[in-house]
Amino acid sequence: MDDDRRRRTPRTDVVLADPQLAGEVERLGRSTVKQTVVAVLEACRRGSVSPEDVVGVVRDTLPRSATTLRTVVNGTGVVVHTNLGRAPLSQAAVDAVVLAAGVTDVELDLATGRRGPRGAGARAALAAAVPDAGDVHVVNNGAAALALAACALASGGREVVVARGEMVEIGDGFRIPELLESVGARLREVGTTNRVRLSDYAAALGEQTAFVLKVHPSNFRVEGFTSSVPVSALATLDVPLVADIGSGLLTPHRRLTEEPDASTYLRMGADLVTASGDKLLGGPQCGLLLGEAELVRRLRRHPLARAVRVDKLTLAALEATLAGPVPPVTGFLRATPDDLLARARHLATALGGGVAEAVSSHAAVGGGGAPGVSLDSAAVALPAHLAGPLRRGDPAVVGHLVDGRLLLDLVAVPPEQDQALLDAIRRALADAGTQAP
Ligand SMILES: *Cc1c(COP(=O)(O)O)cnc(C)c1O
Repeated sequence: MDDDRRRRTPRTDVVLADPQLAGEVERLGRSTVKQTVVAVLEACRRGSVSPEDVVGVVRDTLPRSATTLRTVVNGTGVVVHTNLGRAPLSQAAVDAVVLAAGVTDVELDLATGRRGPRGAGARAALAAAVPDAGDVHVVNNGAAALALAACALASGGREVVVARGEMVEIGDGFRIPELLESVGARLREVGTTNRVRLSDYAAALGEQTAFVLKVHPSNFRVEGFTSSVPVSALATLDVPLVADIGSGLLTPHRRLTEEPDASTYLRMGADLVTASGDKLLGGPQCGLLLGEAELVRRLRRHPLARAVRVDKLTLAALEATLAGPVPPVTGFLRATPDDLLARARHLATALGGGVAEAVSSHAAVGGGGAPGVSLDSAAVALPAHLAGPLRRGDPAVVGHLVDGRLLLDLVAVPPEQDQALLDAIRRALADAGTQAP
């Protein structure tokens, strides 16, 4: 019996050569299609797919693209979700990435035919967005921006003076103090976990001081008997002041009043501000360095700058984020709870009152910043057992469990995705209906 099934199972290369799969091989590449073929043939040998159906099943189960990444609808209620790739790009930024993926003039001056400054467009857009910066430079990510500053200014055991309460772990075990030490800087901690004064900083300064570092605690809050020293006071000290603001806000945000921004810090006297491009700025993953012209020039010419150089796709996306229409993250933070609740009601009604209910909810900004802020939002509440089927669907839908129900929060779902979300929920309901919960 088993032998018979084996004999009737077609060979991999025969299936791969089937004319019905020629277009898929062209689109996805032979090795991607082959992986699916091998899996379907295995199912055929086990008897769960019949030999005549192999090609059809391969076509139905092929991935949509040559990457294993899957599209996810972010119903977690966390606007900037690190595990979901942080900021989704605007359509303008996506278009810029597609354009940049071809051959472009990223480092060529087409007017003269000579080599041009790399990423001049992105730099100009960033400089225009932050007129208080004497110069700007873009690197791989926020951590690289800080590492480059520390390496250029404090390697060889020079000291970085930092408040004990700002020795931050960014996530996944990565810690800013260890990052600084890894490029040869020495840390000089001042103050206590909850309090630090300007005099603490002043007493720590000496021959070995490279700079004072102010780090924004972007993922936690210390409450109660606390004090920290504002940037304007730190700027009175007679050493360079570097500020890591984390989130990438370039100007003050109306709703996130406690979140620092680059323009304000520079105006208060910071010499250099470092930030991420893919948190509240809403752009691609990258690191921004903004500040005093001579300092930024030094960083740009440092040997390490080449190792943390940003790629052309990122430069294109950053420029389009800065110069184009507002990115999704900005839109998410503008939506009112009433608008979100109206969308949730619409979805719940379409699904039928028996399974879904529109509810008010509390959302968070996320790993990107504003740790103490709760955003009034709205969600579609569903039975908890739908979490698995929704997560395994395509697009995958990820929500969060509250009081035994699955909430799909709409704060970080663009309204254009509502129909896709509705279809995904219907598929998950059908799926769950055919399986035991
Ligand atoms: C996120 C963050 C970083 C790291 O930025 P990446 O872009 O993730 O490398 C550094 N400092 C602070 C305060 C942050 O919030």
